[in-house]
Amino acid sequence: MAENVFEIVLTVFGILILISTIITLTFVMTLLRKRAYGRRRWVIVQILLFFFVIGYTVNMLALLGRDYLGDIGVSAQTMVSLVYFFGGVFTIVTILAIRNMLRDILGKDIPDNEALKIFLRVTGSESIPENILSNFTVQCEVCEERVIYTIADVVRNHAFAIERGIQIEEVFGTRSFKIRPVHKCKDGRREITVVHDNKLAIRNVEENRLLYGGSL
Ligand SMILES: [Zn+2]
Repeated sequence: MAENVFEIVLTVFGILILISTIITLTFVMTLLRKRAYGRRRWVIVQILLFFFVIGYTVNMLALLGRDYLGDIGVSAQTMVSLVYFFGGVFTIVTILAIRNMLRDILGKDIPDNEALKIFLRVTGSESIPENILSNFTVQCEVCEERVIYTIADVVRNHAFAIERGIQIEEVFGTRSFKIRPVHKCKDGRREITVVHDNKLAIRNVEENRLLYGGSL
């Protein structure tokens, strides 16, 4: 065992770092509200971290002379190759989760005319409503700020999940749109659901939802 002290110490530190990463990630995930900002993608990252903890622990036991993998015919080289492989998988899954979260949060910088084309396509509208470029105002009941938005702003906010930002409702042949402007509220990023009628006038405010933020 004495000749393995360096490897054992490294592996123990590796396990401790992985466990602190799992704890940190769990706190971060509480900031990502359910169904918002790809919370599920981070669950995959967390599962991979658990597998690493198991792999490192099995490796440490082998260094201490209890070779469970050897017992089932898995060599040390195979173990190293598996760690390399899953290290690669972990990296790509994490990078994709970060990319998708940034897309969800930042949206996309689209010029007004392009954004309005997207709005018309999503809503299937043929005629362009008169006030499509107007500034709409809604008051946030949490921070009490006046949230000013245009239809183009909402398209930009939800560029990667447009069906979440703009929804069409049809009740007794009357069309209305659920528009979800996003603003930086005092406790995080908040989305307000505002119902507009088919001429885009604001009809009522339905929901006020925290997307990420809150206290840890
Ligand atoms: Zn607010």
